[in-house]
Amino acid sequence: MHAKDAEARPTGGVGMRAAVFREVGAPLRVEELELAPLGRGMVRIRIVASGVCHSDVSLWDGTIPQAAPAVLGHEGAGVVVEAGPDVTDLTLGDHVVLTWVAPCRHCFFCLAGRAELCEHGMDHAFAGPYGKASGDEVFCALGTGTFAEETVVPAAAAIRIDPEFPLELAALVGCAVVTGVGAVVNTARVALGETVAIVGCGGVGLAAVQGARLAGAAMIVAVDRVATKFDVAIANGATHTVDASAGDPVEAVRALTGGRGVDHAIEVVGTSSTILQAYAMARRGGTVTVVGAGGFADMVSIPAMNLMVDAKRLQGSVYGGTDPARDIPRMIALAAAGALDLERLVTTRIALDDVNDAFRVMLTGEVARSLIVFPAPADGRGAT
Ligand SMILES: [Zn+2]
Ligand SMILES: [Zn+2]
Repeated sequence: MHAKDAEARPTGGVGMRAAVFREVGAPLRVEELELAPLGRGMVRIRIVASGVCHSDVSLWDGTIPQAAPAVLGHEGAGVVVEAGPDVTDLTLGDHVVLTWVAPCRHCFFCLAGRAELCEHGMDHAFAGPYGKASGDEVFCALGTGTFAEETVVPAAAAIRIDPEFPLELAALVGCAVVTGVGAVVNTARVALGETVAIVGCGGVGLAAVQGARLAGAAMIVAVDRVATKFDVAIANGATHTVDASAGDPVEAVRALTGGRGVDHAIEVVGTSSTILQAYAMARRGGTVTVVGAGGFADMVSIPAMNLMVDAKRLQGSVYGGTDPARDIPRMIALAAAGALDLERLVTTRIALDDVNDAFRVMLTGEVARSLIVFPAPADGRGAT
């Protein structure tokens, strides 16, 4: 499509429904949302599916500050239905996975091969309002806003994938899969035959379990407090499970490794207590990778002597060390080849109107991933 055509055609937000966050802790309300006309370098996407991630709950409950009203959701996939001026590498009908990190390709971190740390990677996440609902200006949370039938993102935040791959499952790649698998292969760099403990078996934790299996780990210990998750963890590739509600998980992991501890402890909860557990589960000289998003006031206290004498590597992993343009198509290829099993990450499929229930069950800890699936538009608009 030529930029001129895009400019000439008004952006149609009529009939577009979105789950709008208006107040911390109050249920999201599904409302009509009218999108502003597309700006330079922006694309409009018809969303096919969106995962519900724990970070959405963190935005909703105020743990992560978010301007309101806003459309939450950041793990989506869909079809390009309109391209704004200066969009050169996407065309109408392209199947895309959305990402909340849109690397600029010019900054220090991009040039250093650390696209996930791009100085401008989240500029779009903090941009101004992108539409109106009930007369109010609405923000697009994390620059993705996937709890909606449509969204508008910079072209760099829409990664084209193989059109043969089911878009519904591809949605999970945008956050849970790249974060979990990426933490294992890009950040921890788990090697063949190593031992891994994964603390927290939500969507990202299960993706990390699959990543460890993919990396050839000999032992994959899934640690959680909710016993119903263990069957799922085993189905995703865990070799052992530890019920953290039934005793000291550190002792249990050490017992599995001859008292030594694991080569890699991967923390996917984001609390000081689970980070300390992960630190203690790693063997001397082992690696501790923190993936969970914790609070600013939750301090992690480790004896200074241990930091030196245990010679462990303690590191954070942001977005799984992912370069979206490199890793999203790579994860899709691995899933298409059967090496990653995205269906195993999905606990339940729901409609947009059920998003509040998805928050509720996520807080009980019993659901790894709810996947919002949007019905295909009746007029065939942006049909796949
Ligand atoms: Zn997420
Ligand atoms: Zn950059």
